[in-house]
Amino acid sequence: MAEPKNTELMEKIVSLCKRRGFVFQSSEIYGGINGFWDYGPLGAELKRNVKEAWWRDIVQNREDVEGLDATIIMHPTVWKASGHVDTFTDPMVDCKTCKARFRADQMCDTPCPKKPSKKATECEGEKTEPRAFNLMFTTHVGPVKDDANVAYLRPETAQAIFVQFKNVFETSRQKPPFGIAQIGKAFRNEVTPRNFTFRSREFEQMEIEFFIKPDEAIRAISGAVSAPASGEPREDWGWEAWHKYWFESRVAWYESIGLNRDSLHIRWQEQDELAHYARATVDIEFDFPFGQQELEGIAARSDYDLSQHQKVSGKSQTIFDDELRQALSKLDEGQRAELVDSYKAARLKYLLSSGVEQELAEKSAEADGAGFLKGNYVPHVIEPSAGVDRLILALICTAYDEEKVVDEKGKEEVRTVMRFHPRIAPIKVGVFPLLKNKPELVAKAREVKKLLQDHMPVFYDEAGAIGRRYRRQDEAGTPFCLTIDFDTIGENGEETADTVTLRHRDSMKQERVRISDLVGMLLPQVR
Ligand code: ATP
Repeated sequence: MAEPKNTELMEKIVSLCKRRGFVFQSSEIYGGINGFWDYGPLGAELKRNVKEAWWRDIVQNREDVEGLDATIIMHPTVWKASGHVDTFTDPMVDCKTCKARFRADQMCDTPCPKKPSKKATECEGEKTEPRAFNLMFTTHVGPVKDDANVAYLRPETAQAIFVQFKNVFETSRQKPPFGIAQIGKAFRNEVTPRNFTFRSREFEQMEIEFFIKPDEAIRAISGAVSAPASGEPREDWGWEAWHKYWFESRVAWYESIGLNRDSLHIRWQEQDELAHYARATVDIEFDFPFGQQELEGIAARSDYDLSQHQKVSGKSQTIFDDELRQALSKLDEGQRAELVDSYKAARLKYLLSSGVEQELAEKSAEADGAGFLKGNYVPHVIEPSAGVDRLILALICTAYDEEKVVDEKGKEEVRTVMRFHPRIAPIKVGVFPLLKNKPELVAKAREVKKLLQDHMPVFYDEAGAIGRRYRRQDEAGTPFCLTIDFDTIGENGEETADTVTLRHRDSMKQERVRISDLVGMLLPQVR
């Protein structure tokens, strides 16, 4: 991408992440390991909040999405069926002079490790021809290390959802349209990990497979497929409407946790970027300091994935839809034949593109058409696939702010403040006794902390001047701070007893609030 890069800002962000305990290099005391990152105390809370917000909004608050928590290592044939063993590769080139290894399609952006001031393409060394490099990490299951025991660390969470589709379908009493969602680790042996946590070798994904009826079934049941429109889901939505629904919902969700709409971009993948089975893919891109880059991809993947697992495992992935069977039986002969033919043609196209030879493919498609007539089909899927770590980075970049303020003594200083949305802020409230050597203040502050900590993460701090304590919480992104002072403990009369000073992070405004009102006031803002 050709956007201007803000390297200075990125350096400040990386430095704050380390200084305040958001993100550390993995195994740092041993020099680190490229492409692996750990989340420190604040980062771990931030990440939990983001994942919990996603899970609550996608799984718990919806009636049409079920959750899944599958293993990282699966049967190796899963990755054969999905295409990852054969095609999950990046083109890699080696520099014959400096021996550095690059992704051929990213060389223009990658510095030469031997001469960091130069881009890889400018390094004088002759390059090898690009070679396909498979990004999956391998391991061996059991004590014997041979080819028969090879297994893979999953490069995406999605395949487990497809492999467990039938189990979830049969146990959850859902029927399409419905989704299965999963959050979990994924591993990719990226050729050139870079841009801090943006491209890592171990990362987390939040993925949804949203299973829908094929358009032929919608046409049979509702008469026609409606044009994509915004708003609440409808019975007559086909794949295009569901695809639009999901990328719009995902953008709205990003806004709800604090990303600015202006920094998010919808990019339709070009025809030549699309996987052969994908009907359309939209990337939601974010303005990172190093350029506009992908945060999440929303792909309309047809019935490819379940069909592949059906073909390779030999286990049927079709479902029976009585509404479809009945709808088809009520149509006239011509309409019915047209829909069955259209379904058969789509199945034939898939079978041929997946390597089945013509005669067998035609026979299978015929059988699929006959099955469709009885109400059976392989569900189609819309896949919103997001990276947790890229989102954390986007949230950190959005939150980071510096502003000039004047302290109590009239001195100008720069305040670094992380303006996280209260919903995802690692710590919600800082609680400070005005003085640490005044036992009544300390006891009261402890009491306030205890009152709040059952409802939200609270940080107790009694060290240093109040202004310094506020600044520390500003850098942590804590939206609210409470100071317990002499008013609180009733030294200035009944009226102000049991009230505290509530200080707002963003405006730095302060107000007096009754302790008994705190939970009711803060909770709706931080949930
Ligand atoms: P890219 O083109 O940037 O390599 P991708 O298109 O291969 O990404 P997907 O396979 O669609 O990515 O994965 C879905 C999401 O998982 C991405 O949108 C991204 O947020 C996240 N993701 C993928 N690879 C990485 C990685 N190496 N490090 C961190 N997050 C990643």
